[in-house]
Amino acid sequence: MGFDVKFWGVRGSIACAGANHVKYGGNTSCIEMKVGGHRIILDAGTGLRNAGQTFLKEKSGDLFLLLTHTHWDHINGFPFFVPAYNPDWNIHVKAGHLKDKGGIQAVLSAQMDNPMFPVPLDAMQAKINYDDFRAGESLDLYSDITVRTAPLNHPNDATAYRIDYNGHSAVYITDTEHVLGELDQNILGIIEGADLVIYDSTYTEEEWPAKVGWGHSTWNQGMRLCQEANVKRLAIFHHDPDHEDAFMDRLAVEAEAAWDANFVAREGMVVSLE
Ligand SMILES: [Zn+2]
Ligand SMILES: [Zn+2]
Repeated sequence: MGFDVKFWGVRGSIACAGANHVKYGGNTSCIEMKVGGHRIILDAGTGLRNAGQTFLKEKSGDLFLLLTHTHWDHINGFPFFVPAYNPDWNIHVKAGHLKDKGGIQAVLSAQMDNPMFPVPLDAMQAKINYDDFRAGESLDLYSDITVRTAPLNHPNDATAYRIDYNGHSAVYITDTEHVLGELDQNILGIIEGADLVIYDSTYTEEEWPAKVGWGHSTWNQGMRLCQEANVKRLAIFHHDPDHEDAFMDRLAVEAEAAWDANFVAREGMVVSLE
């Protein structure tokens, strides 16, 4: 029973198809963690569609879908997630930013409302339950897996997730904005000693000052946090659609030279924690 992390979508903001987004991938945020035989999906960006296609090999299944928040790039894949239309699947959806704001089911339903989408949420035939919690609470998914959460600094709010299993841990942190010259205490607390941190690296340090207030960060800030918190590896994630393959190649060289724990997440990449 291992702990594998697969990147189904690594892009932020909007999916980008085209010849300049082939190497790193154009689908938006979606990560699959296979943890001790259990399946946890983090975010339902457009990458979720491809994940769902591969799950069809299984006749039935059970999974948790943990959402950081409900901006388009984190939920647009949900209406195209084929297991959600299969009555033999159990899907547990959780979100930490809507407890006092109508709840996650209402938001996912609104995304599929007439006339934005032809099929309503209640046409999904899987057994789906929707659960709202407050970011900062711990979640009880399976007895052998610990899930902690933390609030992030993002317009309309967002939630960080840390998954611990059998001495290994992965933390998913997107979308979040840092304060210049400061280390976010919520993030330091949740990433301490982790094997892998996946971090919102939308902008370069040169671009970031013009984007203050947009709710995003840089790989350099992720590195500062991870070095302070003794993290083993940092996945640079939530790439700006303007950062085409050649740009990302240069960014990868720079980031890997800065710290050998850094790597750039690519669509289709699998990281095994052991
Ligand atoms: Zn995003
Ligand atoms: Zn967002």
